[in-house]
Amino acid sequence: MWTLIGRDGKPHLSAEPGTIGGHRGGRLYGRLDCRTALQALARGGYVKSRVFFRDEPTAIAAGYRPCAVCMPLEYAKWKTAIAR
Ligand SMILES: [Zn+2]
Repeated sequence: MWTLIGRDGKPHLSAEPGTIGGHRGGRLYGRLDCRTALQALARGGYVKSRVFFRDEPTAIAAGYRPCAVCMPLEYAKWKTAIAR
């Protein structure tokens, strides 16, 4: 079982692993192989804040925003959306 963050922003158990990673403190989501996330994980400290989502819509519903490094297109869309 995996612990994933649901659309309500709360953790729940899932039989399927997540496809999207995130940072609880920064309210960021991104690819599991995100360069900056892996660097932060390697430095330590990130591990406690690491969360996972089933997919991108779930991360958005939970109030997270896309990572500018590994999801530049999604990030640009998000920035445009909040600028309105
Ligand atoms: Zn990223």
